[in-house]
Amino acid sequence: VIEITDLHKSFGQLEVLKGVNITAHRGDVVSLIGSSGSGKSTLLRCCNLLEDSQQGDICFKGEPVRWRGAGHDRRPADPKQVLRIRTNLSMVFQQFNLWAHMTILQNVMEAPVTVLGRDRAEVEKAARHYLDKVGIGDKCDAYPAQLSGGQQQRAAIARGLCMEPEALLFDEPTSALDPELEQEVIKVIKDLAAEGRTMIIVTHDMKMAADISSHVVFLHQGLIEEEGPPDALFGAPKSERLRGFLSATQ
Ligand code: ATP
Ligand code: MG
Repeated sequence: VIEITDLHKSFGQLEVLKGVNITAHRGDVVSLIGSSGSGKSTLLRCCNLLEDSQQGDICFKGEPVRWRGAGHDRRPADPKQVLRIRTNLSMVFQQFNLWAHMTILQNVMEAPVTVLGRDRAEVEKAARHYLDKVGIGDKCDAYPAQLSGGQQQRAAIARGLCMEPEALLFDEPTSALDPELEQEVIKVIKDLAAEGRTMIIVTHDMKMAADISSHVVFLHQGLIEEEGPPDALFGAPKSERLRGFLSATQ
């Protein structure tokens, strides 16, 4: 579904991604791990074109992003393509980013109705279905502030699902939550993995990464230091840096 080749990204002089390759086929769960500042969030944001990149290719369902300009002037050439890619890669953030003035149901319905122009009644049916699925079907009429953090994050996941995306991108979906609330969200993510959803997940939670990933990528200072199936990466890490990182996160 997503194929990234030799991606380079700098913020001014600061080189954050130095030639990264990542592929997520349909049904893959790819976990991105690495220390703070290694470029995980930046990589995820480049995937759905929330950030520009200066070099390298991004391919969505076999369709390469078309660019105009080069280097720091490089931008996607086709706004329709950007919209298509962005709406097909739903992003779930650490801070749930729900609209405070809308009910949970309205939050979930907003983008499918206004961005995709789908039929309101059908979207409402789908929204209720996804809210049920993440276990907060009874919170449709509540406002975000009336929900716990775990419930808000599950609402944000339902909102992502309601776009009927090809893949979900998670940026530390549980790290703003207390440990008990974290478990509710991990369970939802595990269910999605078991369903065969394509996902790329940035996480500090090595246990979840080991449990659900088909592939784990360890990023170090903007380069992939080591990657592979979770058994190998966690069970028999080859890189000294990865071993250091894993022992520090235990
Ligand atoms: P964390 O685990 O703390 O979330 P991360 O791996 O997600 O870290 P990024 O957020 O991708 O790291 O940041 C990588 C580097 O890019 C950091 O040095 C950061 O300071 C820098 N950076 C990120 N966003 C910007 C920005 N908008 N402008 C300038 N520098 C940025
Ligand atoms: Mg980050």
